[in-house]
Amino acid sequence: MMNTQDLDKKYVLPTYARADVEFVSGKNATLKDVNGKKYIDFTSGIGVCSVGHANELLNTAITEQISNITHISNLYNIAPQAKAAQKIVETSGYDMQCFFGNSGAEANEGALKIARKWGERDGKIKRYKVITLKQSFHGRTITTVKATGQEAMHNYFGPFPDGFVYADDMNHVESLIDDHTCAVMIELVQGEGGVQPQDKDEVKALAKMLKEKGVLLIVDEVQTGIYRTGEFLASNLYEIEPDIITLAKGLGGGVPIGVVMTNLKGVMGAGDHGSTFGGNYLSSSAACTVIDILNDYKKSGDLEINTLLFNKAVEKIYKKYTNLFTQKVGIGMMCGLRVKDADTLAAIINSARENGVMVLRAGRNTLRFLPPLTITKEEIDEGFKSLDNALSSI
Ligand SMILES: *Cc1c(COP(=O)(O)O)cnc(C)c1O
Repeated sequence: MMNTQDLDKKYVLPTYARADVEFVSGKNATLKDVNGKKYIDFTSGIGVCSVGHANELLNTAITEQISNITHISNLYNIAPQAKAAQKIVETSGYDMQCFFGNSGAEANEGALKIARKWGERDGKIKRYKVITLKQSFHGRTITTVKATGQEAMHNYFGPFPDGFVYADDMNHVESLIDDHTCAVMIELVQGEGGVQPQDKDEVKALAKMLKEKGVLLIVDEVQTGIYRTGEFLASNLYEIEPDIITLAKGLGGGVPIGVVMTNLKGVMGAGDHGSTFGGNYLSSSAACTVIDILNDYKKSGDLEINTLLFNKAVEKIYKKYTNLFTQKVGIGMMCGLRVKDADTLAAIINSARENGVMVLRAGRNTLRFLPPLTITKEEIDEGFKSLDNALSSI
């Protein structure tokens, strides 16, 4: 009989450099592999399992839902989708409406379609250009690969859709705006680019300038959304009012979902956009429950307490291993340590896994932490003890 790795090698396209570990069960931020070895999870499935693994409330909600209906289609009313939209909009505090898809890239595709349709509103000038940042990451579809400003991502797959312009940084955006610009799309904390937060005053100044010029602000909150930075949305934390916001990763607690939300309510009409699976009973009931769990968790003060504990622990290893780390970066439960070079980072990630703690890479040289938001003090202590062991061996 072939084991999982053999089957994977034979039948799955090799687009991932997988570590040879196979997990079989989990509880909150703790995982077990096929050999019974225990791991503390500081990755939450790349920011997805926001309420931890095997969360009882989430599991109850989705099993109850799928024992009735999993999927019908967007040709009919879907109660949990309408409720999820209400929860997202009301928790965000923005006067917006939602469209449901299945992933971050699909949410960003929706954002770009809304911006471009808005850009054609007067039928004379075609405003289609979108400015993004050079260190950004917006997804893996042909269009979102092109929206991603990192040149290394554009080596294959062309010709790409036209109209993407890349700014070096926030201060470079204004000079790139012309009569054909419809939108600027940014992440408030660049995730894949290296856990790099934008400066709050610069973001506020950008938002103000764009409003004056009549250019839309799209905020890609696929990674920063759903309390990852401490507030429901990073846009709330930065005190801005974007025109379009995208969500995905943490929203479904592991069930695939993507959302684009906008204050441009009159732009999209019946037939302009759609998704077969988007916002079905399964994924939107998951989103409803994740939001309920995390709203309570935030209100109780526990999110803040555990975020502080987590960041103190990161700070401690940062100060202890000045031979390896050069800077602490990030906000809330989205934090990182810059490592002196890429090879050292690879060694740290492997050694951490061997020592029973899972961590991520971001950009070229950032050690990234995206723990479940519900990680406990015990799990934090245990994970950092293992990480300390790993680092002392580097
Ligand atoms: C992960 C991510 C995406 C892509 O999401 P997928 O669900 O993989 O399509 C887009 N933007 C940001 C900021 C992300 O972190």
